[in-house]
Amino acid sequence: KVYNQWCSVVRWEKTTRPFLRTMEFLWQEGHTAHATAEEAEERTIQMLNVYADFCEKVLAIPMIKGKKSEKEKFAGAHATYTIEALMHDGKALQSGTSHNFGDGFARAFDIQYTDKENKLQYVYQTSWGMTTRIIGAIIMVHGDNSGLVLPPRIAPTQVMIIPINQNKEGVMEAALRLKEKLGTYRVKVDDSDKSPGWKFSEQEMRGIPIRVEIGPKDIEANQAVIVRRDTREKIMVSLDEITAKVGETLEKMQSDMLERARVHRDTHTYSVTTMEEFEKTAAEKPGFIKAMWCGEEACENEIKDRTGATSRCMPFEQEHIADTCVCCGKPAKTMAYWGKAY
Ligand SMILES: [Zn+2]
Repeated sequence: KVYNQWCSVVRWEKTTRPFLRTMEFLWQEGHTAHATAEEAEERTIQMLNVYADFCEKVLAIPMIKGKKSEKEKFAGAHATYTIEALMHDGKALQSGTSHNFGDGFARAFDIQYTDKENKLQYVYQTSWGMTTRIIGAIIMVHGDNSGLVLPPRIAPTQVMIIPINQNKEGVMEAALRLKEKLGTYRVKVDDSDKSPGWKFSEQEMRGIPIRVEIGPKDIEANQAVIVRRDTREKIMVSLDEITAKVGETLEKMQSDMLERARVHRDTHTYSVTTMEEFEKTAAEKPGFIKAMWCGEEACENEIKDRTGATSRCMPFEQEHIADTCVCCGKPAKTMAYWGKAY
């Protein structure tokens, strides 16, 4: 059985931060009940993958998938899985979670079903969710000093046409014709009285992926200028080919943004094998830290006290950095990602 809902939630937060930690937020939450533990685990992982794919393919944010530690997991859950992203400032953001509740809550709340043998059995439950906090991630992963940079796939406006010398005869008409021509994309024409420079800045601040500049000289030459928001690259293009070129540019920008975020994350991920290294890295280099861990909460707490970094997850993609726990020196059970987090 699957239940899914979108709703607003209110939580008592002492310190709030726009988008990332708000008292009220909109989320999507799903709950399932299964006959077996295997089915529940399968669904938990399936939903984690749905979130990770959405983040990577649509939001252009690469994710690290893994399991939360006992200390960081949802209280009462059998296991919590998470997707973790690195923001541009080197801080981590938990971006979505998927919990396998096992049959703990079913036993506590007496949630049972009748099986094929007509016997009452407890169900195995899962729960998973993603919130408007992910909007904060989009801003902090992709934004620059001029404002937002929105991935083309989610940009409410993908193309802003800005007429140059719009009062000259034929310019506004050409801009509107171009809008018509680009009708397969989400296009607007900025026909306000503001100067082109103002309009450029506004389009950049709002993160609109592409702006198309068209003025009297362009019209004469049957061309327009496409400007990418992320790289500010200017491309002169014939009006006959502009529809295909805009589509191509949006696709390219989408994949470049993911790649750039991946490179940023990977170049801000450090491996450490001693606590001295851990402390120095945490203090001087914002980013993810990979280190081996014995799995004991005492070490997790000590690492947090000494470095300010919390365990983000034990990734599905494990690496063997060392044989022993970075903190206590006992045999390591897992490699974990650590970091200062929002
Ligand atoms: Zn340890």
